[in-house]
Amino acid sequence: MEEAGPKPKRPVSSLCCLCNNRKAALKRPKTLQQICRECFYEVFEEEIHQVIVKNQLFRPGERIAVGASGGKDSTVLAYVLSELNQRHNYGLDLFLLSVDEGITGYRDDSLETVKRNEIQYGLPLQIVSYKDLYGWTMDEIVKMIGLKNNCTFCGVFRRQALDRGAAWLKVDKLATGHNADDMAETVLLNILRGDIARLSRCTAIITGEDGPIPRCKPFKYTYEKEIVILRSWTTSPPSAFILPMLIVVLLVNLLRIWNESDLGPFLTSLNLARISGFPLQQKCLSKGRVNDVATFQARNGVKLVFCSRA
Ligand SMILES: [Zn+2]
Repeated sequence: MEEAGPKPKRPVSSLCCLCNNRKAALKRPKTLQQICRECFYEVFEEEIHQVIVKNQLFRPGERIAVGASGGKDSTVLAYVLSELNQRHNYGLDLFLLSVDEGITGYRDDSLETVKRNEIQYGLPLQIVSYKDLYGWTMDEIVKMIGLKNNCTFCGVFRRQALDRGAAWLKVDKLATGHNADDMAETVLLNILRGDIARLSRCTAIITGEDGPIPRCKPFKYTYEKEIVILRSWTTSPPSAFILPMLIVVLLVNLLRIWNESDLGPFLTSLNLARISGFPLQQKCLSKGRVNDVATFQARNGVKLVFCSRA
């Protein structure tokens, strides 16, 4: 089961142009090569490795936090960095650092994604919240100041929150998932604003070296489309576990309900009553009493019997 998103373009020819062995799975957006899934992983990760090495983004023994929003970029970045760290012995201590702005319905789901990444990639997670740091959630700030200009507050708070989280983790650098498309967007914005000073430094691969925590962008040359493809593929294996896991959870819950309630004897008596033709005794599952006034409640599709006093 693959995550919804832009699907890789169907290749015209059937063989991968890199290995000439497996069937091509996509036309690579960056090079337009028709390649197989395995070769795509390989070239994608190798390119990031080359960017890291050529730009000396990390030094052995450094503690690195991945700014993890739960979005595609930071999720793929956490995956690629943990892979490369092991494969090429970077000797890095990697962490996930997330900011909880306190925006109901927005951050909840993405924080769940980050928590899954923590388990999936075995990286310790630190969540810093606006509420803990500033005493205000973003929802409370919006209530006070309205929707106008709240992005300014959020942006400043978020930057500071990442710095504070990075300081707690005692990391040497913060790696963010900014990609080539983000770079292009920033350049255009600075041109439109006429901000020449920022234009000259906005595309640097390492920034903030004079600040509390330097930030680096290993995906600076990576196309967003390719991150989306990799994200949809890397989430496939965990998704394959979801159905069996759901079945196990369902069975455990059913067993628990069976043990904690009188459902077993109740169903047995139901069958006996049906077979024998005797009137059915209705026993309250909560109080264990046989009662003439019983209510039925459907729970998980199973009818349960409770007396009116339960
Ligand atoms: Zn191939």
